Amino acid sequence: MNQMKERELLGIELDILRYPNPLLKKTTEPVTAFDEELAGFVEKLYAAMRAHDGVGLAAPQVGVLKKLAVVEYEGKSYTLINPRVLEKRGEQEGEEGCLSFPGVYAMVKRPEWVRIEFQDMEGQMHVTEAEGFLARAFLHEMDHLDGHLFIDYLTPLKRGAIRKKMMKQARGTSAEPPRAARRR
Ligand SMILES: [Zn+2]
Repeated sequence: MNQMKERELLGIELDILRYPNPLLKKTTEPVTAFDEELAGFVEKLYAAMRAHDGVGLAAPQVGVLKKLAVVEYEGKSYTLINPRVLEKRGEQEGEEGCLSFPGVYAMVKRPEWVRIEFQDMEGQMHVTEAEGFLARAFLHEMDHLDGHLFIDYLTPLKRGAIRKKMMKQARGTSAEPPRAARRR
């Protein structure tokens, strides 16, 4: 099966932006319309995340500058709309990756525990607590909504090495044939 047909069947319509795309460094606007368009977009975000075996995906990673991210962990889905950290505690260090940095992993320090508030697709406010890996996933995705990336926590040396690797990858991607050619 060709790539385009496969994507259509899986319902994937969103392309994930890769670093150093400048949209990944932009801040985002709150979601104000809790309508069908929002529900449709959230569905597409989940489809794109699952297609890439991701744990989370934030709207800016598909070029939409809105405060919205999805996380899926241990069979539970979290649709975080206009999320905000209320409280954080402790410290953990763990390996982190990002769908905008394929093949890149780095150790990042984050709080061990967080309490966050967010709205659901109907605009209802919720408060939830998370620790360990889930806390890390929430914080990573919420960082995206402020234009912050996991490499921002690394030393300039490590960040530079990753940037170099991603620039190389970007040049490789541009050599890919255009869509029309791939469809055959
Ligand atoms: Zn990410």
